[in-house]
Amino acid sequence: MIISDLHVHPSPWKFGEGTYRQFVKAALDRNVAILGFSEHGPEIGSDQCYRGLKLNEIGDYVESVLKLKEEFSGLIQIFCGLELSYHPDLFDSYMKLQTEFPFDYFLVSLHTIDDWHVDNPDSLSPSIHGKKTEKELYRLYYGKIIDAARCGLFDGFAHIDYLRRSLPHPPGEPPEYALEIYDEVAGEISRSNMTVEVNTRGFSIESMKEMYPTLPFVKKLVHAGVKFTTGSDAHEVGRVGDGLAKVRQLVAVNGIRATHYFKNREVLGLAL
Ligand SMILES: [Zn+2]
Ligand SMILES: [Zn+2]
Repeated sequence: MIISDLHVHPSPWKFGEGTYRQFVKAALDRNVAILGFSEHGPEIGSDQCYRGLKLNEIGDYVESVLKLKEEFSGLIQIFCGLELSYHPDLFDSYMKLQTEFPFDYFLVSLHTIDDWHVDNPDSLSPSIHGKKTEKELYRLYYGKIIDAARCGLFDGFAHIDYLRRSLPHPPGEPPEYALEIYDEVAGEISRSNMTVEVNTRGFSIESMKEMYPTLPFVKKLVHAGVKFTTGSDAHEVGRVGDGLAKVRQLVAVNGIRATHYFKNREVLGLAL
């Protein structure tokens, strides 16, 4: 079974631990055949929790990954990407990155909405969105996901239902109104030809205990013909490839027949 992990972050910006080389060796130890680095790109604001690589650090990053790609060729396929937050204010810098460097792919994610840090439930009530109902928050969050699908700058979504960090629900049991929203989002993503990542980090988050996306969302995406990638979202060497063998069996029984990866911004498929 071919395991691909397109979402790892060695940089010590918050939790990062280990060098790029250690991540490659960990991937080899865990039978990962396709490894994609996806460091965080430049972010808005000064909050260190959400800082990615600075613009002047991107060149070194790409160079480090390209060197490892050459050194380990024949043993593992290595690709170079970025995880970019959906911030239209940064689109100009994103476009510059996309033309200046030979990236294989760009994942998009939504970590913050104005002053609300989506992975920190405590940040919601004091934020400008604190008075909204859960349904309104779902609409707000997924409205931005739809905008990200339409903008044409990104290749795939990372942890698409990150909203669950602030609004958790039991595994596989989202609120009823979410299903209609998932349908709408799945249709948009299908039209955009972007991928959606099955991300195993959610399994180890106490309030979630389920991968991203939740299974009912996966089913809507499968039904709409959306393509999938897989990723561990490892910020530590010990989590490279984590849970991916298990998740591939899980998604296969739910109708996903292939997984995908990217080379020079082109999406390529692998049969499961
Ligand atoms: Zn993320
Ligand atoms: Zn990530």
